[in-house]
Amino acid sequence: MHKTVNIIGSGFSSLSAACYLARSGFKVNIYEKNDTIGGRARQIKKNGFTFDIGPSWYWMPDIFDSFFADFNKTTKTYYELEKLNPAYKIFFEDDVITVGDCMDKICNEFERIESGSAKSLRKFIAAAQENYSIAINKIVLRPGLSPFELVTKETVLKVDQFFKTIHGEVRRNFKNPKLIATLEFPVLFLGAKPSKTPSFYSFMNFADFGLGTWHPKGGMYMVVKAMSSLAQELGVSIHTNAQVENIQVENGHAIGIKVNGVFHKCDFVLSGADYHHSETLLEKQHRQYSEKFWTKKTFAPSSLLFYVGFDKKLKNIEHHNLFFDTDFEIHAQEIYDTPKWPSDPLFYANFPSVTDSTMSPKGCETGFFLIPIAPGLEDTQALRAQYFDLMIHRFQKRTKQQVENNIIFKESFCVNDFIEEYNSYKGNAYGMANTLSQTAFLRPKLKSKKVKRLFFTGQLTVPGPGVPPSMISGKLVSELITKENK
Ligand SMILES: Cc1cc2nc3c(=O)[nH]c(=O)nc-3n(C[C@H](O)[C@H](O)[C@H](O)COP(=O)(O)OP(=O)(O)OC[C@H]3O[C@@H](n4cnc5c(N)ncnc54)[C@H](O)[C@@H]3O)c2cc1C
Repeated sequence: MHKTVNIIGSGFSSLSAACYLARSGFKVNIYEKNDTIGGRARQIKKNGFTFDIGPSWYWMPDIFDSFFADFNKTTKTYYELEKLNPAYKIFFEDDVITVGDCMDKICNEFERIESGSAKSLRKFIAAAQENYSIAINKIVLRPGLSPFELVTKETVLKVDQFFKTIHGEVRRNFKNPKLIATLEFPVLFLGAKPSKTPSFYSFMNFADFGLGTWHPKGGMYMVVKAMSSLAQELGVSIHTNAQVENIQVENGHAIGIKVNGVFHKCDFVLSGADYHHSETLLEKQHRQYSEKFWTKKTFAPSSLLFYVGFDKKLKNIEHHNLFFDTDFEIHAQEIYDTPKWPSDPLFYANFPSVTDSTMSPKGCETGFFLIPIAPGLEDTQALRAQYFDLMIHRFQKRTKQQVENNIIFKESFCVNDFIEEYNSYKGNAYGMANTLSQTAFLRPKLKSKKVKRLFFTGQLTVPGPGVPPSMISGKLVSELITKENK
């Protein structure tokens, strides 16, 4: 008899877990509340424009490769990948830094800004590469059950890097504020300030400069489609418009879930929905973490997002563009220390149609704009409009063009939508940050400590936020469930 696993949600972590579990012989059902799968990585298609509504940076291609290789497939089976050149562009008040697709080009750019910095950069990235190899091979593939998982002969030699910060390490090696900002950017994906992120996480700099930035033709949603095709090939059943209302527990064991009023019995329940929400699906006595626990945690930012269709091609932009032309420290304080709407925010603009003609109608541009903000802020249409104006004017100034009158489509997404669409805690966009006290075994657990046969996956648990970590999280939890079944 095949044992059944009912999975809540259809984000990357759930899809990944579903594939591994189905391959191990489980009967797997996915229940997703929304009408399309993919969670934070869904897509909007309107009037010929295609918008990835969440992730747009395809980093760490090795993780995607190894996921598909586990099923004797390659990414090529499902989608076409292109390495972007340049990877991205950063606009400062008085200059623009272009990050090329190889170390030689990036070193030349560093040298242009700060003489002698290329040598320091090569040394910094070589150390980051070592950390990457340790992180990927020795740390992230551990399920976070015990602190001893972190103790290896390699990590013991690097223990000081868990107590130093990226902020300090970058400043020790580089003096120019623009180069410092460039090197601090990758750790923002981990959800905390560089001054709160251990310097060991410099492996993100290797992911950036060493492994490069890639684009799946048709957008990031191609990866969701690929994983769901694979899951279905393996026999997984996917149900959309299937809101899970509760997780039922009997004699300390999870026995099933209630979906749109109907009980679905199973042997294991796995939730890939936000961890905090997943626990609210249980009666109070079965929850592991109190409301106080969650309020004390450092959450990754929420975001104010705009999906914008332009009726012309834009100038002076690349596929990925960062606008670091204001004070990062002040914006970071307004996200983490004294949460409020930012006074003068940094922002990110993505134009996939610059390199991928399938993403927009001919002669048009598809734009995605993101302002990171503190989770839990008041979210009104008036505030969204105010920030769009502020941002589009800065965008026009920095890229030296008028675009306001060429907007033919615009939609926004913010805190209220994150809560409404994904049951996200305080409307966070990227889950729980990876700080020292929220790393590995210190994160919410993959396996419930209170209810047998109940498991969790996704960006709030191990190893952390981002598409590659979510895929790894699904693999780790599938291994725990398979072990428990023996
Ligand atoms: C704007 C934005 C930009 C990002 N950019 C990047 C990037 O460039 N690169 C990168 O690597 N990462 C990026 N990320 C992070 C990345 O998208 C996430 O880490 C990842 O998608 C999280 O996957 P997940 O499986 O943990 O959860 P989710 O994608 O949140 O999936 C959870 C699913 O559970 C469903 N659900 C919730 N409650 C219920 C319920 N009661 N019943 C049924 N279903 C339920 C939700 O609808 C959702 O589909 C970005 C995220 C955002 C929001």
